[in-house]
Amino acid sequence: MAGIGIVGAGISGLTLALRLQRLGVRSTLYCEDDAEGMRAARLPNTVARMGHTQARERELGSEHYRDPGCLMRTAGLSIKGDPPIEFTAHVSEPFHAVDFRLLLPALMDDYAARGGEIHVAGTAPDAAQVDRWSRGHELMVVAAGRRSVAELFPRDPGRSPFDRPQRVLTAGLYHGLDLGPVFSYNISGGAGEIFRVPMMTRAGVVSAVLVEAVPGGPLEPLSRTPWKEVPDTLLALLREHAPRLAERVDPAAFELLGPRDLLQGAVTPTVREPVAELPSGRIALAVGDAWITNDPITGQGANLGSACAWVAADAIAAGGPYDAAFGRATAERMWEAAAPVTDWTNSFLRPPPEHVIRLLVTAVTRQDVADLVLSLFSDPPFAWALLSDPDEVARIVDGGGPRLYDRVNL
Ligand SMILES: Cc1cc2nc3c(=O)[nH]c(=O)nc-3n(C[C@H](O)[C@H](O)[C@H](O)COP(=O)(O)OP(=O)(O)OC[C@H]3O[C@@H](n4cnc5c(N)ncnc54)[C@H](O)[C@@H]3O)c2cc1C
Repeated sequence: MAGIGIVGAGISGLTLALRLQRLGVRSTLYCEDDAEGMRAARLPNTVARMGHTQARERELGSEHYRDPGCLMRTAGLSIKGDPPIEFTAHVSEPFHAVDFRLLLPALMDDYAARGGEIHVAGTAPDAAQVDRWSRGHELMVVAAGRRSVAELFPRDPGRSPFDRPQRVLTAGLYHGLDLGPVFSYNISGGAGEIFRVPMMTRAGVVSAVLVEAVPGGPLEPLSRTPWKEVPDTLLALLREHAPRLAERVDPAAFELLGPRDLLQGAVTPTVREPVAELPSGRIALAVGDAWITNDPITGQGANLGSACAWVAADAIAAGGPYDAAFGRATAERMWEAAAPVTDWTNSFLRPPPEHVIRLLVTAVTRQDVADLVLSLFSDPPFAWALLSDPDEVARIVDGGGPRLYDRVNL
């Protein structure tokens, strides 16, 4: 055995494995579970993948589940208030949502069919196991998600402003909420955010709803509600906090697909050290949620994991030695993609500054601004460059010759 050892078959590990395969670099994928086990697992997330992630999958020859019903070209934003702030936008590159219990096994099958080597561990291994595996490889990449091998990659306090979850999450797959191929983003000040995407699942396209509750606020109890009571409780909360979404619910048909199609929990936004030196003398490089776990509020974690896997694959294919200096240089390149995502996501967990509110209010009456705002989700570097700069927002709002704005092809 030689080549690269990859721990974890999420979107980060699989994108890396498929890209290395394309670049002619040998790898072994160490997974907790096989494809059948992944299909039968609990709902892991409700991911919308943006244009650049889909483009990478296309380049890998691994496009799956391109049903028009789960490709979103329209997005609506609604902020509760009197009057509410509401607008609908056209998204130039459609968002795509597939249950990861379908998508990841499909990517895994692609890797295996092209000769990739898969080792199913059955359990989540610890640092000692990663070290043992590393003896058969030139480099280990750990892409084992947020429950990662944490002792290898300590939290980086300088890049992790929070020490506890900023939202409490309830994600589920529901029958009985029909909105078509539309991304719906609802904000209820002080309570949290509610997202709805049309998602391809084993039952066809259904609605995935993610409730991001401010801890201690009125949406939080949903995260502790028994699964059978979740639809009724959620419908009552939608009526209060996301009335546009509630209007599309058929109360008689509104139900979860099943008990395993619900995820309740919380994420502490964390950036970890990206490089670990193993007793074997090899290094381990963290990628994806194993390195950076962002709150899902901006829908970027999987997109970032895919982007960083691509950067890592190109660095690996350029050749070794795969020592600590290689690890640090690769992490620096990945951070160029990760920093704007992390800064933007952490800022969205706090109350919005005045210039962002002005931008949203302007979007109500200007379609070009509405389209711009919802396209930000497809371009995190641009999103953060704009949203972190009150002068740039003012140029757009006041219509006075924006610089960044010219970059966007709406
Ligand atoms: C409710 C919710 C909604 C979300 N919505 C979005 C969204 O809209 N857009 C977006 O981009 N992101 C979203 N995210 C974030 C996204 O799900 C994650 O960022 C992404 O899935 C991380 O991928 P990963 O491959 O790095 O890790 P994971 O998906 O966690 O995959 C890690 C894999 O490694 C395996 N594993 C774990 N430990 C070990 C081990 N020690 N050894 C071997 N294998 C191991 C696991 O079984 C798993 O298969 C959302 C997250 C949540 C919770």
